Amino acid sequence: MAERPSRKAPKINEARVVRTERITPHMVRVVLGGESLAGFGVGEHTDHYIKLLFPAQGVSYPEPFDMERIRAEFPRAQWPSTRAYTVRAWDAELGELTVDFVVHGDEGLAGPWALRVQPGETVRFLGPGGGYAPDPAADWHLLAGDESALPAIAAALERMPAGALVHAFVEVAGPEEEQKISTPDGVAVTWLHRGEAAVGSQLVGAVKDLEFPAGDVHAFVHGEAGFVKELRALLRVERNVPRERLSISGYWRLGQDDDAWRAAKREWNEQVEREQEAPAA
Ligand SMILES: Cc1cc2nc3c(=O)[nH]c(=O)nc-3n(C[C@H](O)[C@H](O)[C@H](O)COP(=O)(O)OP(=O)(O)OC[C@H]3O[C@@H](n4cnc5c(N)ncnc54)[C@H](O)[C@@H]3O)c2cc1C
Repeated sequence: MAERPSRKAPKINEARVVRTERITPHMVRVVLGGESLAGFGVGEHTDHYIKLLFPAQGVSYPEPFDMERIRAEFPRAQWPSTRAYTVRAWDAELGELTVDFVVHGDEGLAGPWALRVQPGETVRFLGPGGGYAPDPAADWHLLAGDESALPAIAAALERMPAGALVHAFVEVAGPEEEQKISTPDGVAVTWLHRGEAAVGSQLVGAVKDLEFPAGDVHAFVHGEAGFVKELRALLRVERNVPRERLSISGYWRLGQDDDAWRAAKREWNEQVEREQEAPAA
């Protein structure tokens, strides 16, 4: 029998925490550096992301770190967990990679890690991946997201061509969570304050109320899966936006950690497809 070519193990990057900064009460910026980031390949997309690896609690892995070996020698429950985070910025000259983490309480791995991590500590990650950048040929752009999508929305706004027609909605807890984003002239963010309302409810309302400009829209909609689904219905079913003009997905799910959400995500997406892509009777 012919031998199957072995699957190439994805490259694990190892970086050092250079500094951290609490940029708003609910957002921590972590800047990573280190020699292994030399030649880090980002730029094509504005939603580039990396997958940080967090060791299972109480487990230490043999050095040099080798995922194949860990998979072979450790039970699955002891494999590292991954968490996806957007590349907020990459400074090729300084070799610095900036990632902004939502601080969402004591639960979870990545949020609490970002709050407590100190300069000099090491972190490993996979990536980068990515799939969206604002299409300069679009007649207008719609960007909508919660705090988890703010890094990608900010990166997209910074890349907008001058004179672009953009409607950008970002829902945050309150005014203290607003950030300064360098946007080209004429491009502004509409900040929506959640207060006590359900996550995403302000975003759904704002996009519903928006008078859509004429022409081809290129849309980027990400954040909590529940509101993303509602906005997808609004855009695909009510507004007939072609699916290839939509970058849309649930970055996280209320009440589920990321491992549980990723396990359920495929079925969730298939259900959304069935509901929203069914041919009209
Ligand atoms: C491609 C991609 C890019 C992403 N980029 C970013 C980014 O740049 N910055 C960022 O902060 N997040 C980003 N996310 C979302 C992030 O991966 C998830 O929020 C992840 O669940 C956080 O992991 P955790 O270990 O902190 O919490 P988990 O262990 O996954 O979850 C613990 C609990 O916290 C809740 N929770 C998780 N995230 C949030 C949140 N944002 N707000 C409130 N409650 C939450 C969960 O529902 C769960 O109850 C991105 C996700 C994807 C898929």
